[in-house]
Amino acid sequence: MSVIAINPCLNCGACCAYYRISFYWAEAAPELGGTVPPEFTEQLTSTRAAMKGTHGRNPRCVCLAGAVGEPVHCAIYPQRPGACREFEYSWKNGQPNERCDQARAAHGLPPLPGPAPVTPDHPIAPEAA
Ligand code: SF4
Ligand code: SF4
Repeated sequence: MSVIAINPCLNCGACCAYYRISFYWAEAAPELGGTVPPEFTEQLTSTRAAMKGTHGRNPRCVCLAGAVGEPVHCAIYPQRPGACREFEYSWKNGQPNERCDQARAAHGLPPLPGPAPVTPDHPIAPEAA
């Protein structure tokens, strides 16, 4: 029986509405090969930009579509900044991510469950005497 892995982020979005999503400004500069649509970003410093909506109180990225904790998606998913690409949900690679847990907790969501303990379908039978 095959098991289809569901990306838990598709029913979460908490980190997109908790952290300031900042990155090197050139990621939003098409003339330099940047892919993030500049209209959804704001310049923070001479070298840093951020996704609009994430800088300040009650952050929420303008590109997050849907309500946190319900079906959500990133409106610019293929063009999202590196900070978003690199952020891993807890247990994606076998390790918890405290920042994922923290963002979820801020929105009243429990941490993602870790891997289930391995239990054999058929306990090993004791050797025949
Ligand atoms: S908080 Fe964790 S589970 Fe939720 S969208 Fe971010 S990485 Fe995914
Ligand atoms: S760009 Fe997309 S993945 Fe990144 S914070 Fe915004 S909604 Fe989330």
